[in-house]
Amino acid sequence: MSETTLAAYAATSAASKGRRIPEAAPPYRGEFQRDRDRIIHAKAFRRLEYKTQVFINHEGDLFRTRLTHTLEVAQVARTMARVLGLNEDLTEAIALAHDLGHTPFGHAGQDALNECMRDFGGFEHNLQSLRVVDELEDRYVEFPGLNLTFETREGILKHCARKNARELGELGQRFLDRTQPTLEAQLTNLADEIAYNSHDVDDGLRAGLLSMEDLAQTRFIADLLDQIEQRYGAGLSQKKLTYQLVRFMIDSQVRDLVETSRRRLADSGVDSVDAVRARTDTLISFSDDMLATHRELKQFLFQKLYRHHRVYRLLVKMKGVISDLFRALMDDPRLLPPAHFERASQLEQAAGDHGRARAVADYVAGMTDRFAIAEHERLFDPRVLD
Ligand code: MG
Repeated sequence: MSETTLAAYAATSAASKGRRIPEAAPPYRGEFQRDRDRIIHAKAFRRLEYKTQVFINHEGDLFRTRLTHTLEVAQVARTMARVLGLNEDLTEAIALAHDLGHTPFGHAGQDALNECMRDFGGFEHNLQSLRVVDELEDRYVEFPGLNLTFETREGILKHCARKNARELGELGQRFLDRTQPTLEAQLTNLADEIAYNSHDVDDGLRAGLLSMEDLAQTRFIADLLDQIEQRYGAGLSQKKLTYQLVRFMIDSQVRDLVETSRRRLADSGVDSVDAVRARTDTLISFSDDMLATHRELKQFLFQKLYRHHRVYRLLVKMKGVISDLFRALMDDPRLLPPAHFERASQLEQAAGDHGRARAVADYVAGMTDRFAIAEHERLFDPRVLD
């Protein structure tokens, strides 16, 4: 991809707001390609393989993990970026980094850690993804973290509470001004939604927690099932029908987003990244009809899948793992591995209990599902003598 063929409102390396520690331009890659490569080489990226998306990582080898979810988001986002003339490299970098700060055990883990951190500034996975790339990855000599461009960091920080935004300088300013990030950031955010709406249906069917009959109660799925029947007849096997449904789901959402965004971009007359950033509304968006569809589908998935007895029971147990770990390590930081103990002591010296709690949260958030379970056994099961 050459940046010279991009639309006028796309982000470019040349117009980048740069890196926190200035570096010479890469000789054979663009700035955002360099960001993407640094993300892929990060330890936090490899750990995504063993972190839960919805189903606990070891429930079955065919379910999505954070890693396969991340790759699906990147793939959907890049396709849409190319169609809209946006910067595919920046889009890919944001997508690959967007879930780096996720705790083990998906949203249950994040909720549990946030609860543990209530008196110490809270825990928020978007902000944690930024901490990972800004501070926690420790591999370069010249700078802490990955020293990514402003644009990639801006895209990673999808949401941010105002009190946190105030501490982030230029990166947090848009949450105070209520303005927008680049179109690439807006697009990746919605690609995330397209990916999980579609693959959660797939995984839910595979796990036997959702049935096709249940799903057909939503208008969106009923319409798509009709289209599939028109094209392929009524005799598809359950397996083929599921694959076709997921395919049609992704396709209809992508098409809706591309058409709606194209229209909005043309109507707005924006002709630069600055013009995009100055706006209070997003220009990359689904149609009102698709937004209503999403609301209905989300409500359905919440009740039937995310709150399904089997999913819920397991997630409550995993929440307990996170809060047990946090409490034990917070009460006695010597239970941390030596390097983390040292860091906790340093942060405690600088910021008291808040500092110690942050170091413990960083350690717990970085764990994979299986490491958290094993560490829980090592700390609490007297029969485990390790
Ligand atoms: Mg995601």
